[in-house]
Amino acid sequence: VAGAAPGRSGGVTEQGHLSLLRAASSGAVLAPGDAAYDAHRVGWNRRVVHRPRAIVLAHDAHDVVAALEFAERHQLDHVVQATGHGPVRPAGADAILVDVSGIRGARFDGRTGTATVGGGARWTSIAVAAARARAGLVAVAPAHHHVGVAGSALVGGFGWLARAHGLSRDHVVGAEVVLPGGETVDAGLERHPEVLWALRAGATHTRGVITALTVRLVPQPDVYAGELRFPAEMAPEVLARYDERLAEVPPELTSSVVLEAGPPGRVALRACHAGRISEGRAWVDGWRRWAAVADDRFTVRPAASIASLDDEPVAPTALATRTAWLRSLCDDAISLLAPAAFARDPAAGRVEVRHVDGAVTAGGGPELHESSALLLRVTATAGTGAADPVERRLAALHADLVATGATTSGAYAGFAAPCGLAIGAPVGARG
Ligand SMILES: Cc1cc2nc3c(=O)[nH]c(=O)nc-3n(C[C@H](O)[C@H](O)[C@H](O)COP(=O)(O)OP(=O)(O)OC[C@H]3O[C@@H](n4cnc5c(N)ncnc54)[C@H](O)[C@@H]3O)c2cc1C
Repeated sequence: VAGAAPGRSGGVTEQGHLSLLRAASSGAVLAPGDAAYDAHRVGWNRRVVHRPRAIVLAHDAHDVVAALEFAERHQLDHVVQATGHGPVRPAGADAILVDVSGIRGARFDGRTGTATVGGGARWTSIAVAAARARAGLVAVAPAHHHVGVAGSALVGGFGWLARAHGLSRDHVVGAEVVLPGGETVDAGLERHPEVLWALRAGATHTRGVITALTVRLVPQPDVYAGELRFPAEMAPEVLARYDERLAEVPPELTSSVVLEAGPPGRVALRACHAGRISEGRAWVDGWRRWAAVADDRFTVRPAASIASLDDEPVAPTALATRTAWLRSLCDDAISLLAPAAFARDPAAGRVEVRHVDGAVTAGGGPELHESSALLLRVTATAGTGAADPVERRLAALHADLVATGATTSGAYAGFAAPCGLAIGAPVGARG
């Protein structure tokens, strides 16, 4: 996509080809002025609004091939969108938007222990297919299962099994990719492995369109997982203890601290231990002995049910985000982040600090900063303008955090602000 020339072949020729594209596509092809065009210019994150030359609602790989051939013929850029949760670059008048959300479906293969999904499928569809198969296998999915399989695997995919099993992308074993111009490549560990490795490294993120993806599921017995809630005023102490005790965290335990504005405000330690239950319980007991907990939701549960730990919004939202890798949480960083829990205004947002080292950085790609122990994500509901005050507030918070020296460079691409609106670190950059 990067470097594509603006469209030059307007007028009758392009209109004619648009009619041919419509005739060749099983899904709709929308142009400005069409009744459904406006409804399809936005995805889940209402802060990203596309204004493309045409929107192709692809239903299968043939539709994607036709769309990319059309783009090449008219020297148009192409932007891909599945769910619209991610850092999608808004498509402008020099681009077509290839909406792959209609390429869904999930098929579980018991012989290989893999699931193959369409390029627009969400992790929820793999969870359903795996549960039906009753093979005792689970997907190494992001914590939020409503994001796209392809879109999150391209950037990493960090979920509750991360420190035990790595990132979602480490489990991708096959992909069907339509390259710019329309050539289709069926990649796997044995055929076109270079495409698979490039994909795992995020390289096709802005080039090819994934129309199918195969991921290996993992055997995972019950986990010890849940959440401890502390009184809101304990936010600074909880953050400080979390940071000080990272060396004691068992290797198979993935955890985070979440602070949310009130009333009443929320300070929660969340974790999933994917090893021996007694080890996970012992770690949580250390926190139980440390302070009186307001609410204790830890329990032994099937690994297949860990998506229920997630509480992020499913309905479309205008979400502003800032992210950073943190070396550690110094006092200055804590005093910037902790007030999120005491704020009276629920619009003040949500702060999440995830523990990322171990299996995550060992198997990680270029966006994972090797000297970082923690991944910070701050989100808040915003308006839809680029100069939105919430966006400015998060940008100022990010700048103040950088000034404390707690951050390392770069950003986790999955949590980066939409490219067209980005303020701060560029997507996927690394120092
Ligand atoms: C509420 C929320 C919770 C999240 N939770 C987590 C989490 O727990 N762990 C985590 O790791 N991440 C998480 N993310 C980040 C998310 O995984 C990434 O933003 C991811 O890129 C979203 O992919 P998508 O397909 O859903 O979104 P989209 O916005 O549709 O796509 C994101 C990017 O991937 C590209 N893309 C998508 N599908 C294809 C395809 N078929 N072929 C080629 N390119 C494609 C798009 O072009 C775009 O650049 C979360 C994001 C949100 C908003």
